[in-house]
Amino acid sequence: MPNRRPKASPAPADAAARRAIPPVVCYPPDTLPEPTNLGPATPTGPVTRVLAAPRDAASFHARAGQTIRITSVEGPQVGDLNLWNAHDLTERFFSGKTRALHGTHVTTGDTLWSNLPDLRPMATVTHDSLDWYGIDTFGGAVHDVIGTRCDPYTHALLSEGGQYHHCCHSNLTRALADAADISLHEAEGHVHDVLNVFMCTGFTRDTGQYFMKASPVRPGDCFEFRAEIDLLGALSACPGGDCGAEHSSDVTPCYPLQVEVFDTVHTAGHTPSSANPYDRTHGR
Ligand SMILES: [Zn+2]
Repeated sequence: MPNRRPKASPAPADAAARRAIPPVVCYPPDTLPEPTNLGPATPTGPVTRVLAAPRDAASFHARAGQTIRITSVEGPQVGDLNLWNAHDLTERFFSGKTRALHGTHVTTGDTLWSNLPDLRPMATVTHDSLDWYGIDTFGGAVHDVIGTRCDPYTHALLSEGGQYHHCCHSNLTRALADAADISLHEAEGHVHDVLNVFMCTGFTRDTGQYFMKASPVRPGDCFEFRAEIDLLGALSACPGGDCGAEHSSDVTPCYPLQVEVFDTVHTAGHTPSSANPYDRTHGR
């Protein structure tokens, strides 16, 4: 990448002092409500199960208070997750603000937020069997909210017009079109930046480029979150498989991902998240 950029401008005399200024966390989340009822969930009733087939996506519904468990089955596999308000597709997961509030990767106790103007908890991560991974020496970590999703448009640009139809963007589009009974074109407009479940990613230290590496996920690993509002979700089993080599192709071995939705002892008494307190007058 550096060779695509022109020579840097001359540095000022106090460049070192400017670089030495310590950073300040933009959004300390200390005033947000404490997450409750964390830990691996136990179903108290029937479990709804769907399987996202390799290079395809599956959709699911969850009522507020229910737990959604995504499990690796058969082999290492990354999943691209989209979430919508089940009653209003325009309210959807906001990866950018989730990242700003909790960091580049999410784990147990973090909230998955919805977009403006709603900006309220859509879900709370309640259990993550890969929380042992932390941040590796490359700066990589698991379950990122920094990638967008593999998509056929970027692929076409980078492959001189190549056509590939099983990127996560397309898989999620087909899944939402079927789940909401809308056209592919309408569904595509609702597909948004994802939570990359099980994916191991970061930014290179020297060039700041988005990188991926083989996910540490093993069959049996799971990622659980509790719906804070009624949700429609879709999960794509990325064509990148464990995302250790390449995506947007049929080259890499891919495996299914299982999604389970169920009640827990906390479901019945759960209070859905309330509307954002901002009055929306915008100074007028
Ligand atoms: Zn993908």
